[in-house]
Amino acid sequence: MPQSSLPDLNTIWLKWMDSVNSCLRNNDYVNAIACVFHVNAVFGGENRIEFNTAKYYQLTNSALMSVCYHCKSETPSQDVKSWNRLLPLIDSVLYGKKYRRCWNCPKCNKYNYQGKTDFVQETFTTPRYLGVVQEPPKIQEGLVGRREFEMQARNWIRLALDEISYSLGVERREYVPVSDRDDMIDNDDND
Ligand SMILES: [Zn+2]
Repeated sequence: MPQSSLPDLNTIWLKWMDSVNSCLRNNDYVNAIACVFHVNAVFGGENRIEFNTAKYYQLTNSALMSVCYHCKSETPSQDVKSWNRLLPLIDSVLYGKKYRRCWNCPKCNKYNYQGKTDFVQETFTTPRYLGVVQEPPKIQEGLVGRREFEMQARNWIRLALDEISYSLGVERREYVPVSDRDDMIDNDDND
């Protein structure tokens, strides 16, 4: 049984969704992510989604393919082994770090940057709602790092809100109005 009443839930939900949208309009992704956590916290334990990267990939990885930038071949992401590539000086200034994670394509053997890799999802079994989303992306240093973070943050927020709005639907279906709960108690008393 949800702890707060449904009208409360709707009000809190709308309040936080307003905050998410206003952060996104201001390109304030750090606070938009924080608001997503608040929206999620509105729900009771069972309908609250979990932010767990390992679990999320466990559920989706078998279907997730990494696309090679060079030859466009697809490799199951769970088979991809990544390594640190030492960046040339100019790149390291641009990215704000000395190394970037790479992986080698097993088909053409060229290296790909992990942060720039495209993923394709093999057809997902329905229902597609998992109740789990990766942990949010972390802010990165450097000009390019920042742009990558913003792109990842937008994707993450879309995915998380998708899951959360599904939870809201479930919570609405499960909700028993307070008056009906009182009726149930009254009936018990009369027996
Ligand atoms: Zn390749």
